[in-house]
Amino acid sequence: MMAALTAAQDGENRVTLMERQARVGRKLLATGNGRCNLTNTEAGPEHYHGGADFAECALRAFTPEDTLSFFEGLGLLCSREYGGRVYPRSNQANSVVDVLRFALERPNIRVLTGCAVESVKRCGMGFAVDCAEGEFRADKLVVACGGCAGSKLGGVMDGYEILASLGHSRTALYPALTQVRTDTAYPRSLKGVRASCCVSLRRGKKKLEQKTGELLFTETGVSGTVIFELSRAVACGGEGLELSLDFMPYMDSEAVLRHLRARRENAPELPANQIFVGALHNRLGQMLCKYAGVGGDLTASQLGETQLQNLAAACRDFRLRVTGVSGFESAQVTAGGIKTGEFVPETLESRLAPGLFACGEVLDVDGDCGGYNLQWAWSSGRLAGRLGK
Ligand SMILES: Cc1cc2nc3c(=O)[nH]c(=O)nc-3n(C[C@H](O)[C@H](O)[C@H](O)COP(=O)(O)OP(=O)(O)OC[C@H]3O[C@@H](n4cnc5c(N)ncnc54)[C@H](O)[C@@H]3O)c2cc1C
Repeated sequence: MMAALTAAQDGENRVTLMERQARVGRKLLATGNGRCNLTNTEAGPEHYHGGADFAECALRAFTPEDTLSFFEGLGLLCSREYGGRVYPRSNQANSVVDVLRFALERPNIRVLTGCAVESVKRCGMGFAVDCAEGEFRADKLVVACGGCAGSKLGGVMDGYEILASLGHSRTALYPALTQVRTDTAYPRSLKGVRASCCVSLRRGKKKLEQKTGELLFTETGVSGTVIFELSRAVACGGEGLELSLDFMPYMDSEAVLRHLRARRENAPELPANQIFVGALHNRLGQMLCKYAGVGGDLTASQLGETQLQNLAAACRDFRLRVTGVSGFESAQVTAGGIKTGEFVPETLESRLAPGLFACGEVLDVDGDCGGYNLQWAWSSGRLAGRLGK
């Protein structure tokens, strides 16, 4: 949509937008839990993976501020929230889709919905695009088919296949910004419990990555923003991974021990497995006691120093063995994609097929959680839509 609107700014261009689903922007409607986190004011290359350096040109050419001005121009009012995240003031993703849909109603843009591109062939200096409706000819072609994440919302392999048929190649694809599957014994009994914590991804003694934020226990493992942020490293990380959860990252270990000693002192009759009440979610606190081997048959006053140390350790380093990540169906983004080296970063034109452009998630660029992926879609769509000019 962004590429089509940009291309149509030149009144000489006649633009056809072909969309396989019944309406444009279906995935957009589901973004940000239905609120659409449409950009992040901090979006710079350091928040991207895969071809992050490649993405820099597009991100500089069309910044988050440009995104805000662009959408403001379409009538969308936005609000900035924590961590630079930007949402429509209406808190409705359909506001974003609607302003784009109305903007597309221009005499030199034709929108064909329910129109799945089946194949593309080189035809002279241009392209022949085949779909059920017949063959379309174009001098220039922008492939903006997205990735295969969010398959229920229309994430498909089509873009990779179309670009492969024109000579392009891709990296391995992994689901990212998704839930992590772990041994289920503890998560299952904590299902629905949220906790603010610091999570480290480890292999043996080696800490591979660490993030802090909200975690949610699920039937199959863990979810939440902090887990989404680690999921790419988990998906690409191979075997033998563990998560270490620190539920009191704002205290050092000595302070946690002091807190537990104070509880023992001040509430001696408290069942030992309630010692975290007031500090953590009750179910989580009880689970940590179980993990540390402390049962409700004791009172707080009966806890020895070693047991307090075990409780403190459980709370600072609760381990979960990783068994994988959820699949593309529930992932928000695809890590990997069409190799960026095959495109010119300043224009997003193919180095292999002149006149061919690509943008968005189909390329090997994926961003962190927090509006970065849509910013990449806007920035790269803007650049590709200039059609090399
Ligand atoms: C549940 C969910 C929540 C998300 N939340 C956020 C968020 O809050 N903030 C954020 O920044 N990112 C979010 N993302 C990621 C973001 O939505 C995507 O990275 C972004 O939409 C990618 O844009 P795109 O234009 O490349 O692809 P898409 O938005 O997927 O658009 C590609 C379009 O091409 C169409 N298409 C595919 N093949 C063909 C074909 N053969 N012929 C015709 N049309 C075709 C598809 O139907 C689709 O409409 C979320 C993703 C999901 C799944």
